[in-house]
Amino acid sequence: MRYLSTRGQAAPRDFEGVLLAGLAEDGGLFLPESWPSLSPAEWRALRGLPYPELAARLMHLFAGETLPLGTLRGMTGAAYAGFGHPAIAPLVQLDHRTFALELFHGPTLAFKDMAMQLLGRLFDHVLARRGERITIVGATSGDTGSAAIEACRDRAAIDIVILHPEGRTSEVQRRQMTTVLSDNVANLAVQGSFDDCQDLVKAMFGDAPFREEMRLAAVNSINWARVAAQIPYYAYAALALGAPERPVAFSVPTGNFGNVLAAWAVREMGLPVERLIVGSNRNDILTRFLAANDMSVKGVEPSLSPSMDIQVSSNFERLLFELLGRDAAATAETMRRFRAEGRMPVPDAAWKRATGLFHGFALSDEGTLAEIRRLQEVAGYLADPHTAIGTAAARTHAPEDPGIPVVVAATAHPAKFPDAVERATGMRPPLPPRLADLYEREERYSVLRADLAPVEDFVRAHTRRNRAG
Ligand SMILES: *Cc1c(COP(=O)(O)O)cnc(C)c1O
Repeated sequence: MRYLSTRGQAAPRDFEGVLLAGLAEDGGLFLPESWPSLSPAEWRALRGLPYPELAARLMHLFAGETLPLGTLRGMTGAAYAGFGHPAIAPLVQLDHRTFALELFHGPTLAFKDMAMQLLGRLFDHVLARRGERITIVGATSGDTGSAAIEACRDRAAIDIVILHPEGRTSEVQRRQMTTVLSDNVANLAVQGSFDDCQDLVKAMFGDAPFREEMRLAAVNSINWARVAAQIPYYAYAALALGAPERPVAFSVPTGNFGNVLAAWAVREMGLPVERLIVGSNRNDILTRFLAANDMSVKGVEPSLSPSMDIQVSSNFERLLFELLGRDAAATAETMRRFRAEGRMPVPDAAWKRATGLFHGFALSDEGTLAEIRRLQEVAGYLADPHTAIGTAAARTHAPEDPGIPVVVAATAHPAKFPDAVERATGMRPPLPPRLADLYEREERYSVLRADLAPVEDFVRAHTRRNRAG
């Protein structure tokens, strides 16, 4: 399968090429040249498979010619072996038609592990075969970074440097990154917002000599392989609830739009997804877009769901490309104007196409706490703030037909956000045993202002290649 850039100026690549490149040279994001599509009978044949097997088969559709099915099976088996639940991504029923799809049973207790545990192995496999090394540079609002570090720690061919906004992640999130003292891991706290971190990462990738020198690679949700590795759990849930015969809806607490894009992809692949509900906190750019075609950037404000404290949802560009009928020139021009003017000029027809499927929902911190309390009271379910936004969104925007189940992406374990959960319910969710001593472990990180030159110097100084001389 070949992959194209949404901006049309980069050469097409195969799966291995887009895995290693992350962002395309023209600033665009890679997408499959055409979506693989399965017939209802082919989907039915996948029902009941263990998660690692389903993941290998679906990833094979995207990676086919570069990775044989047997190799992928080995990787998905290893990637999900350390998860704390035999279903890997279990469904928990919350009311007559709403289900939580728990994506937080991996090593860092958030959904990022679902893709990242596989991505670390994909990188390692491909690099070993090519005899190459890379430096992974990433920006995180909390969960991506720890998941990437867990996936890459101690791997021979990879150095990893993760930027996080100083003081804007939860303590659990920070400690999950900064207490990994492996030789190939460095953490940098940037004095600024998540968007500042993301801009620095984009600037490093835009600095061609630096990018070459360091052999930079991305694990942000802009990397296509990450989106691809998130597709299987939506298929897993839909099949378990009766698809392809029975339609489903998904409600996804959303930041960079990567997770909900994967839910959109299973629809392109032939599963009956009736609607996609996009949950936000007070950083509600996507909700404003869906309500009134108002995709305009405002300042990022901190909230109880920090992994969604984002204004510019980088993966939205992939949907935009599709909404514009895969017109790369129009996509590039729209993104250029968005960057220059802070407002994305989406043509009315494209916007209507989006609102036919996507429903936006934004919730305040008070509303989020009330929803966490409500779930505990009515269902005895402890939800983290991100998941609670998803369940509130699901109640507001559930399809009229009650026969259509709504699957909420439960994106973090409640113990990852214990303060919010305790404020809402009076109960402090304990960390699972494997993380019980997190607060006692030694931390290591540096702090820098949001400036490109010192950040690049830091990356240079913290790769093993350079320390070895
Ligand atoms: C990353 C994250 C999100 C947002 O996911 P996107 O793919 O960026 O939309 C939501 N909830 C949690 C807990 C996360 O870690």
